[in-house]
Amino acid sequence: MVYKCQEDSFLKEPCDYGLLGSVPVLQVTRRGADAVHFVESALPVGKLVTQKLDWERRLDHMQQHSGQHLITALADIHFGYPTTSWWLGEEESYIEFDTQSVKPSDLDTLEELVNEKIRAANPVIVTVYKEGDSELKRVRTRGLPDDHKGAVRVVTIEGVESNMCCGTHVTNLSQLQAIKILRIEKGKKNKTNLHFLVGGRVLRQLSACLHREYQLTALLKNGPADHVNLVDKLQRSLKYANKNLQAALRDIAAYEGARIKQQVPTPVYVSHHRKEADSDFMSILINEVGDQNVLLFLTVGDDKGGQMVLHGEPATVAQLGPQVCALLNGKGAAKGPKFQAKVSNFANRTKAEELISQYLAGTSNDC
Ligand SMILES: [Zn+2]
Repeated sequence: MVYKCQEDSFLKEPCDYGLLGSVPVLQVTRRGADAVHFVESALPVGKLVTQKLDWERRLDHMQQHSGQHLITALADIHFGYPTTSWWLGEEESYIEFDTQSVKPSDLDTLEELVNEKIRAANPVIVTVYKEGDSELKRVRTRGLPDDHKGAVRVVTIEGVESNMCCGTHVTNLSQLQAIKILRIEKGKKNKTNLHFLVGGRVLRQLSACLHREYQLTALLKNGPADHVNLVDKLQRSLKYANKNLQAALRDIAAYEGARIKQQVPTPVYVSHHRKEADSDFMSILINEVGDQNVLLFLTVGDDKGGQMVLHGEPATVAQLGPQVCALLNGKGAAKGPKFQAKVSNFANRTKAEELISQYLAGTSNDC
């Protein structure tokens, strides 16, 4: 069975790296039939050099690319999902199917089918046809770059498909080791993207997953089979504890407010910071005090930042609010008796308290 080439593989497959002599190759691009190498430093014209390939990178690309050909062919043959494009990523690769949806059961079967072919160890053969070769009529040439001249290269997975392609490939499907289909996602314009890993990437991903699993086992002190239940339980108890904390903070805010109000004589200025509280805490405290003649400098939050409120007589608040806010590296505005701001640094909180005290001492002296 002959399949049309869907893409210019030079655009889809990242280039090889390596050395020309001792000079690193930074990029390789196609210009017509030539592979243009961009190198770190110039080489003298006519100099003979030994080319050394980054084999690990090449093998990885060969595995992903041949794996793509295999998935594309079997998805079309067995389920009628035609491939319109594909992408070889640094971590994962994906194939774009010209279909709005893919049945989950088809994905399971497809994964079984591609791995079955790997076990069967079918050869992968590259044939280069001369320009005008009559055999080429059997290979459709859609997707061939416009500037292409001369020979045409066809990659055949024996017993599966033939595909015009200029990418790098394994010589036998057994070199793919394994294919893992990861997931599907909605693609562009009614297309569906299928993400997959081939060969070394399957092993690397498995190692990373196992490493995370060992870490979770140590943290949760229970085996992988219980991880999901334990994390769910932890999240629920955290939510419950937070709810209790917020209720306790509301009680503290009301208590603090009542305590300030009951002081005799009524204080002219109170400063209060509560690390774990939020803006509700400040609002409850202000409402409980309920007196603009008591200047309240309230802050909530930790080293990463938080909020401030300066509440009191509007003229005082308008005067002091911006200065206090600037000291705490914040951004906010005054509205009547309240200056509210988001702040990013409490390092200068003591300086802000001193500024307020000095201002109040100054205004009382003026009187
Ligand atoms: Zn290809």
